[in-house]
Amino acid sequence: MLPKPFPMAPRSPMGVIALSAVILAGLISSLSASEGEQEPVRFECVCEQGYCKTETCRGVQCFVSVDSRIPGQIRKGCHPYQDLPCEYSWPHLRIVCCKGNLCNRNLTLQEEKDPPHPSNNVSDVTMMIVPIVVVVGVLVILLLLIYQKYCRSQIVPIFRKSKMQTSAEMLRVPELGDNTLTDLFDHSCTSGSGSGLPFLVQRTVARQITLVECVGKGRYGEVWRGVWQGENVAVKIFSSRDEQSWFRETEIYNTMLLRHDNILGFIASDMTSRNSSTQLWLITRYHENGSLYDYLQCNTVDTEGCLRLALSIISGLVHLHAEIIGTPGKAAIAHRDLKSRNILIKRNKQCCIADLGLAVIHSQSNDFLDVGNNPKVGTKRYMAPEVLDETIRTNSFESYKATDIWAFGLVLWEIARRTLINGITEEYMPPFYDVVPTDPSFEDMRKVVCTDQYRPSVPNRWLSDPILFSLAKLMKESWYQNPTARLTALRIKKTLSSLANSDNLLHKLKTDS
Ligand code: ADP
Ligand code: MG
Repeated sequence: MLPKPFPMAPRSPMGVIALSAVILAGLISSLSASEGEQEPVRFECVCEQGYCKTETCRGVQCFVSVDSRIPGQIRKGCHPYQDLPCEYSWPHLRIVCCKGNLCNRNLTLQEEKDPPHPSNNVSDVTMMIVPIVVVVGVLVILLLLIYQKYCRSQIVPIFRKSKMQTSAEMLRVPELGDNTLTDLFDHSCTSGSGSGLPFLVQRTVARQITLVECVGKGRYGEVWRGVWQGENVAVKIFSSRDEQSWFRETEIYNTMLLRHDNILGFIASDMTSRNSSTQLWLITRYHENGSLYDYLQCNTVDTEGCLRLALSIISGLVHLHAEIIGTPGKAAIAHRDLKSRNILIKRNKQCCIADLGLAVIHSQSNDFLDVGNNPKVGTKRYMAPEVLDETIRTNSFESYKATDIWAFGLVLWEIARRTLINGITEEYMPPFYDVVPTDPSFEDMRKVVCTDQYRPSVPNRWLSDPILFSLAKLMKESWYQNPTARLTALRIKKTLSSLANSDNLLHKLKTDS
């Protein structure tokens, strides 16, 4: 049977030191006792495994010990000190003593793996875990430092470049994986959290962009063509005066299911602080044809192209205006600044609606209307009569949708003027070009639209073409003074779809004959 371990057996280096002290104390006391006290009884003990030169020795106690680190080695010998505790167990060493001549001959001590003492295991585990934790901690700190340094090295060139506009080749953008914009779009479509990518990805993408050229300048900021992983992106840099627009666009793009062919594709949004000024970026898909306004300046379209443009815009607007219940869902959105400069032309000659900085959000299911707190107002030239005479019911979402329809009618008019019939078009002109100055005031517009109830003129040639005639009718029904009488986006989309179908049919019939 195994002897019971000594209850105060040492289990740590401190314990060993304490035991050494006890041994030393025992040695001193036995030395001092040797002078005045009686000599203790000594026994002959079996001595094995290197303790003594002979096979026996003499001691106050005989012992047997086993060390689990040296398999198969059982030692026997003599203990010279009487007061020494003799039944104890260290982490690897167990020892048992006896008193009597050769009493340790038959005394056995079975070899055992590390003593299964609970507190011992705990200290072993602790001793293993502590260094691991320390190493992992140091590694994490190192990685964080490297990442910080990497981010800083990205921000500086981007902003320096945005100030100086050097050539694209001067800056090599370090590559982060092999992601393409399409990969990112696929991810954001399946991530289930609105249409936005995770914020960290947005920030990383934003900081890897090289700005190349300024493609648009507004009252509130600039739009740049940038390059990310070899692909063009558009970077809208908001001035600090227009931070509310940045906030609104970022909010809407990140919380709503806005992926739609006819809504400008959002990639990322980023805010950085530099030299105590704040830079606000909104990164979207880049469309080299620019805005519908730019496009119509120097391009004409045939009726098919006209319908394609118009149908794509109204499809985008129907998507904006509709509430989608579900996860991810989408609240209803009214744009509030629809105009040809805020509509972009894609390569396939379809449009997408941009610039959601003024949008209002409505959720019928939650009875929630969020008008935002953007001090910016829409573009005066495109303002509906109820906005100009300030009779708009600001607490009704329907009112905002009706102002979008008014503006859509004006955009349709701009497109129709550039539509070729029998080789004839009108030159590009903005709505009300003939009755207000270049940068009309609120008052100018109010007089024309509310007081005079003037509407953009419809050229005679339109009336002799079935498509342009139908478009003129749609315009008229988008420009009613009474906002509730105007068509809905869905109604317009249906009419344009059937016109497009009939146009295709006509076209087919023409080519067949
Ligand atoms: P603002 O709020 O200053 O009106 P917009 O988003 O309307 O900003 O963009 C201003 C102009 O920049 C547009 O009229 C268009 O010419 C150009 N632009 C904007 N976004 C893009 C884009 N994604 N691709 C190409 N050009 C763009
Ligand atoms: Mg704009």
